[in-house]
Amino acid sequence: MKLQNTTFKPGSKIRLKDFDTRTTSGTTKEKALAICEKNTTAIDELSYRLYAENTRALLLVFQGMDTAGKDGAIRHVMQGVDAQAAEVHPFKKPSSLELDHDFLWRIHQKVPARGNIGIFNRSHYEDVLVVRVHNLVPRKEWNSRYDRINDFEKLLTDSGITILKFFLHISKEEQRERLQSRLDNPNKRWKFSKADVAERKLWDDYQRAYTDAVNKCNTTQAPWHIVCADRKWHRNLIVSSTVRHTLEKMNPQYPSAEKDLEGVIVE
Ligand code: AMP
Ligand code: MG
Repeated sequence: MKLQNTTFKPGSKIRLKDFDTRTTSGTTKEKALAICEKNTTAIDELSYRLYAENTRALLLVFQGMDTAGKDGAIRHVMQGVDAQAAEVHPFKKPSSLELDHDFLWRIHQKVPARGNIGIFNRSHYEDVLVVRVHNLVPRKEWNSRYDRINDFEKLLTDSGITILKFFLHISKEEQRERLQSRLDNPNKRWKFSKADVAERKLWDDYQRAYTDAVNKCNTTQAPWHIVCADRKWHRNLIVSSTVRHTLEKMNPQYPSAEKDLEGVIVE
C-alpha cells in the first residue's frame, strides 16, 4: 500500500491548495483500522524501549486549523505510548508571565526529557500563525521568528531529540461541517466557541500563514509532514504509521545489564 506522501525536500515549494484533503491513500477504512491496531502495538513496545534506553527523546508537534483533529490524533497515537514515557502539553493563549519572556521560553520547558515522547497540542508555531494573523506583534518581530524556530529545533535535534511536525490539513468545507456538528451535538458543544466562527472568516489569512510556516521551517533536521485529514481514519493511519516508522528507525535498545549477574540468586 502506497500511503500519501507527507514530506517534501527542504527548499521545494509546498502548496497547500495542491493536496486532496479527502484522500484515502487508495485504501479502505477497514484496512486502515487494522494497520492502526498493529501500529499501536508496535508503538507501545518501541516507546517502552525508548524509556528504558533513556538517552534520546521524540517530540510530536501537532498543528492545524480549528477542528482539524489535533485532539483526536493525539488521543489515537497516545493509545500506543507507554504511560511512563508520555507527556502531552497543550499550548493556549500565553499567560502574562509567559508574555514577559521570549516566545520560546514556555516551549523549551516542555520539551521531552530523555526517554520520553513529548506531544505538543499547538506549539511555538502559533507565534507565526495566530500572532501573525492578528498582528499581535509587529511584522518585523514575527518575521524574524522562522529563523529562530529553525535554530531552536536544530538545538533540540542536536541534543538527541527527534522531531516530527504534523500539519493536519482539512478543507474549509470540512471545517464547516465539523463546527456545525459541534453545535448540534450536546456532548461536543463545550468545544465550540463563537470565536471559532470569527476565526473561520480569516481562513485565507491562516492558510497563507501556514504556507509560510511549513515552507520556511521545512528543514532537514525537522521536516513538516502534511497530513490529509478530512477523513479521521486516514489522518490516524498516516500519523500512527509515521510515528511507528520513526521509532523503528531510532531503534531504541534496552540498556545492557550490570556485569557479573551470572550466578546471582534472589532468595
Ligand atoms: P484550543 O486549542 O481550542 O484549546 O485553543 C487554544 C487557543 O490558544 C487558540 O485559539 C490558539 O490560537 C491560542 N494560542 C495558542 N498559542 C498562542 C500564542 N502564542 N499566542 C496567542 N494565542 C495563542
Ligand atoms: Mg478551540
